Formats: sequence, C-alpha cells, structure tokens
Amino acid sequence: MFDRAFIRASSVNRALDVIGDRWLIMILQQAWFGVRRFDDFQRRLGIARSTLTSRLKHLVEHGVLQRHAYNDHPLRYDYRLTNKGLGLFPAALMAQVWQQRWAPPPDMPALKMRHHGCGALMVPQMVCGHCTGLVDVREVRYARGPGAGAEPLTEKRRRRSSVEGPPPTRTPVSLELLEILGDRWTPQVAATAFFGLRRFEDMREALQMAPNILADRLRRLVELGVFVTEPYQDRPVRMHYRLTDKGRDIYPLLLALMNWGDRWYGEAEGPPLLLTHGACGQSLHARVVCGECGEALDAHGVAPVLQRHAHRVARRQQK
Ligand SMILES: [Zn+2]
Ligand SMILES: [Zn+2]
Repeated sequence: MFDRAFIRASSVNRALDVIGDRWLIMILQQAWFGVRRFDDFQRRLGIARSTLTSRLKHLVEHGVLQRHAYNDHPLRYDYRLTNKGLGLFPAALMAQVWQQRWAPPPDMPALKMRHHGCGALMVPQMVCGHCTGLVDVREVRYARGPGAGAEPLTEKRRRRSSVEGPPPTRTPVSLELLEILGDRWTPQVAATAFFGLRRFEDMREALQMAPNILADRLRRLVELGVFVTEPYQDRPVRMHYRLTDKGRDIYPLLLALMNWGDRWYGEAEGPPLLLTHGACGQSLHARVVCGECGEALDAHGVAPVLQRHAHRVARRQQK
C-alpha cells in the first residue's frame, strides 16, 4: 500500500534543492564537457555575468564545484567538479539518454557517448547491481528505510525557474528536460506517479500542494506527453493520470538523483527508502553501465561525441 511518507522522505527533494534550477543544470552540463573558466561558461551559455556568478557561488557552497587558483599574477580562479559533483554523473547520463530518446534539442547535433573501456559508441543503461536486469519502475518495490523521518516538503520549494525564455541555442539541453527538472514542483509531481499515485486528490494530499499549482503542472506534463489522462470511473466521469513510456523513462534519472541525495545528504541511520528489485527479489542498488559492455560508467570513462551527420539522418527518418 502507498505510504505518503515515502514521498516526503525521498532524497530526490534534497538533490533538487541543490540542482533544481535551469541554469544550474546547464552549468553542470558544461562542467562535464570540461569547461572550467568563468568566461568560457559565460560565452557558451550566453548567461548574464551576475546570474553566472550567483549560480557558481551556489554550486561552490553546496560542494559540487570547487574554486581553484590557476594563475597567480593576476590571481585567477576556475571551477572544478568535486567528488560530490562527479557523483551526479550517473544522473547526467540518464538525463542525456532520456533527452536523446524523447526530446532531442532541435537543430543540435546528436550527442553520443563513447565508453573508453570498450571503445564503443553506446547508450548508458541503468541496471540492478545484483541481477544486472534493466531497471523498470514497474518492478521496483518500496519500504520505509531506517532514515525515514519527517522531511518537511512544503518550505522553500516553490522557487520558479529563473530562465523563463528559451536558453541559448548553443546549449545542447532539451527545453523539455529543463522544464521537467528545472522547477521545484514538476519532478515531484512526476515522482508521485512513480510511487503509484494516479488521482489528483491523492497527489495533492501527498505533496501538500495548492490545487491550482498541481493542476497547472499536470496540465503541462500532459502536454509534454509525460502523462495521459484516462477515465477510471463512468458515472460521474473521473479521470486519473497515467505515466506514458516517455514518463516512465524519467524514472532512472530520478532514481540516480535519489541515490546521490542518499549518499550526500543521507541520515546517519540509513536511507529513508529501501528499494527492492522485483525481478530478482534483492535490494536494488542501481548502477549506470555501458549499454555495450556492461561496465559501470564514471565521469572519467566516458567522452561526449557530437554527431552532426547522424542527427541529420535521424531527423529525416522522422518525417
Ligand atoms: Zn535485480
Ligand atoms: Zn563499454
């Protein structure tokens, strides 16, 4: 049975407190591409200097980036990913896979990944660390973990994204992905569905959310194809929200964020949620691996490859 404390306890919230802003996501993406210097971030993102300064400060304060002096006279700093920042890499890979499959940024070359270990161009996958089966939300079961407490959900989570217009075209991040992640409520609404909720009232109660905000996010998630509405009752007609394949595919990304939240913001007693992989019956320790050779992936083992030609072919086939 569903326990609404699950949502409150989920470490996804903690991760989103750190990275749940569109600019932060774009800055982190550039950092994974190897960008370190202020001016390079600024030029690539076309971001106002004051905005960039505040976002870099935020990432340094949260220990995701570290300031590092690379020049003495004059003194100049760059920004490098810490181990904690590198720990977000599995989430970044899953975001990339989702984006490429469901919402590739228009007029951008397709971003592929090369795994240094086997040399292949590959698609990363999230698998169960025990049986190596693909992680599918329909096969994951939940139980309260030792760290399940009263995680307050309502405070300070209403910040709207700071990027209202489209980001610069040079940024290879899909607008849909930014919309889903770069807003406090949207990922949490999607997460209720991963815990099995479908009805408006159940979602509202679980999230303690104002009905108009929930209605707004659900409407947008239906427009984006993350949910479809379906009647579950005839008289009177009542609709609920069901995840589409596109919506279900967000799950590995949120699970990667949850694991990161557990690792860096976990309770001393243990994780707030315990996950079981239904397929093998063992506790689920998800890993992101190379889709070709099955080896676990980290930030040092993967290189991004921009495939201009491949993307053009793919776009032609879509027509
Ligand atoms: Zn398994
Ligand atoms: Zn490989």
